[in-house]
Parts: sequence; structure tokens; C-alpha cells
Amino acid sequence: MTGKTHLIVSTGVTLSVMQFMGQGITLASAAIAVISSLLPDIDEPNSLLMQKTMPKKLLNFIKLFFAAAGIGFIAYCYLQSFYTPYSYGAGALLIIMCLVNQRLFRQILMILLGGLLLYVGAEAGPWWGTAGALIMVCALLPHRGLTHSLYGVVMWGGLLYYASIRLGVTLWIAGTLSYTLHLLCDMLTKQGIHPLPPLKWKLAVPLMSTGKFSGFLVESVCITLAFVMLWNAFVVPMGLVTYSWWEQVKAVWSSV
Ligand SMILES: [Zn+2]
Repeated sequence: MTGKTHLIVSTGVTLSVMQFMGQGITLASAAIAVISSLLPDIDEPNSLLMQKTMPKKLLNFIKLFFAAAGIGFIAYCYLQSFYTPYSYGAGALLIIMCLVNQRLFRQILMILLGGLLLYVGAEAGPWWGTAGALIMVCALLPHRGLTHSLYGVVMWGGLLYYASIRLGVTLWIAGTLSYTLHLLCDMLTKQGIHPLPPLKWKLAVPLMSTGKFSGFLVESVCITLAFVMLWNAFVVPMGLVTYSWWEQVKAVWSSV
């Protein structure tokens, strides 16, 4: 399924269910629903989430920076005889990194960012280190690995539950629901998901392939259903309220 479909279906259904349940929808819980609808695909460097957090322009800028740094470093090593010829290798590596495709470059940046967080985490507390390690693992594992399993749901839900208690706001319902809905949607693809790796057990209702006509069809149905739910959750009650107001106005009008 495409990122856009995940965004609409997971967020739409989550907000509708919360509205039906009488849970107040705050800006924070809506934002968490949006993030959680895309978060499982953090292990796919070309996913919508990664395209938004690491846009092409930023990537090109970083590539240029790496290339300039590589050339500058080689020049410095040549002039200062700084650990030559081995240091040339490090400079060349920086330049080579700029020549790889976008997907691989995003992966490299994720690993570097994860490493940085891991390094900072040693000082700043366990959460940073844990996040850094997770980002590195996600960058290295194949797509639909750990993030598309029950462990991913439990980890994300647990993290949000902890945050909800600390911050005094209910975020975990929106986050866990939206994240789970993403996995349920991925179950509709031929690839399916592996809920309990390393067990080979696969959950798949293979109705579609992303990018094919079957994908277009199934995704359209899912999006339509999400909009129907949103309509029933938000627009219909609004109509009922307006109607009851109208009735009251009419009653007052006829009594005078
Ligand atoms: Zn996915």
C-alpha cells in the first residue's frame, strides 16, 4: 500500500473510532495518529515518511557537503601529510557516499543519525540511546521486518503509554490503533506481514499488489470506507445537532 493510503486510512479510522468511543480528540492525539500511520515504514528508505523527513533537497545539500568535505579533507591530508595514504581512503569514502542512489543514501544517513543518538545517549540518558539503536536496526533490517510485527506494536504502544502517563495526556490509544491499522492494511498485500519473527508464520489476505490495478482497487475501497467512517463520526452528529437546534428554534418561534 502507498504511504498516502496508509495516512488516510489509519488516521481516518483511528480518529473515527476515538470519536465513536467518546474519547476527546486533541491536536496531540491527531498528530500521533498521523505519525503512527506512517511509522512502520521507517524501515523502507523510500517510504513517504522518509521522503518527508529527509526530502530530496536536503539530501542533495548533504551530498554536496559530504563531497566538499571529502575533497577538503584529501587536500588537507596531502598538504599536511596527515596519515597518508590511508587518510585518502576516508576522504574518498565521503565522496563515494554522494554517488549512491537516494535509497541507499537515506539508509546511510539513518545509520549515521542512529550512531549519533547512540553516542549522545551515553550522556543524555537511556531513551536517546535506545532510539538511536532502533533507528540503526530499522535501517539495516529488510523492509517489513521488526516494525511490521507485534513487537513493533508493543514497543510503540508501550513507549506512548509511558509518555501518556508522564505527560498526563492520552496518546497511546491513537498511536497504537493507527499503527495496528497500518499492519492490518499491509496484510491485504501479497507480501503480507510476519507478526512474530523469527517465526516464519505469515499473515496475509493477498488481495492486492502495490502499484498494480488490484492495488488501486483495494486501496480505493479502503479509502472510501475510511471516509464513510469519518462522515458518520463527525459530519452526521454535526447534522443532528444542527437539526435539534433548528427544532428548538421552531418550537420557540411557534410559542411566541
Ligand atoms: Zn508498511
